[in-house]
Amino acid sequence: MTGPQPRRNVAAIPAYVAGKPPTVRPGMTSYKLSSNENPYPPLPGVVEAAHRAVEVMNRYPDMGSAALYDALSARLRVPVGDLAVATGSVALIYQLLNAFCEPGDEVVHAWRSFEAYPIAIAAAAATSVPVPVTADGRHDLDAMVAAIGPRTRCVMVCTPNNPTGPSVTQTELDALIARVPEEVLVVVDEAYVEFVRMDDRVDGVATYRAHPNVVLFRTFSKAYGLAGFRVGYAVAHEAVATALRAVSLPFGVSGVAQAAAIASLEAEPALLERVDALVAERARVTAGLREAGWDVPEPQGNFVWFELGERTAEFAAAADELGIVVRPFAGEGARVSVGEDEANDRLLRLAASFPR
Ligand SMILES: *Cc1c(COP(=O)(O)O)cnc(C)c1O
Repeated sequence: MTGPQPRRNVAAIPAYVAGKPPTVRPGMTSYKLSSNENPYPPLPGVVEAAHRAVEVMNRYPDMGSAALYDALSARLRVPVGDLAVATGSVALIYQLLNAFCEPGDEVVHAWRSFEAYPIAIAAAAATSVPVPVTADGRHDLDAMVAAIGPRTRCVMVCTPNNPTGPSVTQTELDALIARVPEEVLVVVDEAYVEFVRMDDRVDGVATYRAHPNVVLFRTFSKAYGLAGFRVGYAVAHEAVATALRAVSLPFGVSGVAQAAAIASLEAEPALLERVDALVAERARVTAGLREAGWDVPEPQGNFVWFELGERTAEFAAAADELGIVVRPFAGEGARVSVGEDEANDRLLRLAASFPR
């Protein structure tokens, strides 16, 4: 071949399959349940704060996102130096791998889990070591420990796990960390942390405080409803957080995103009320699905998982007929976000009528 060639790993990067928008059907409201977005609109204070930032779009944003760092530092009671803000927590995954992996270094992660992991790992020229989740969609932490080798730089723990739903417990996480060598990072991806309702739930901040190799990733995209603005953050001990900031894209987080994130933190009580409503809907949906005979793994995020194997595409098509768009994973299953009440009703109708 002639002409400029990208690094060899670039050809190995899998494509990201984004959740599809709904098919437009005349006379029918369609609902997008394919990207785990928050169905509620932003709170009024958030829109106003973003509008004020829009007025100064001719200026670069504050490169240091100082006000957002201060707000997060106060909210989480962690030093500013232990934070790294980025354009969504997906960006932080890329940053972490680029900062810590040499080409060929290994990253252990559950599979099926967040589809951005293998993409970011390949983009960093690192090697993905996927460890199958258990039959009930949980991380197989023993197998993940067993998969750690001399080249492992990082173990990813996605809790709750996207797309299967279950969370790890604090006891399980502590046991994992105790068995991971101290030079290996343990990433706790808590994109759905606000939705978790269980005994022995992970306290991410306490866990990071206790372990210099633990990194938390959080996002404003899901519970906070700012998916379109791209803002997430990491919490880690200063050496790790400094490395994450060092490789970040300058001026990545826009002024509107910074303003909206700060206003969202201020509106937290109201946002968390909405999260409670989604959690109640999740319970209603789960109970209905189980009643209809579906064996859904315990959902701790704002989505439920249907293991469908070869019937996945058929299920997605039947959902589309009812005006709801789900996220199919070909040959494996479908992830369906908890959305508007009417959308959830349609999912229950689908689940009751779809032959198993
Ligand atoms: C949605 C999601 C993220 C975050 O996405 P951003 O929008 O980039 O912040 C991170 N991890 C998991 C598991 C997710 O599902």
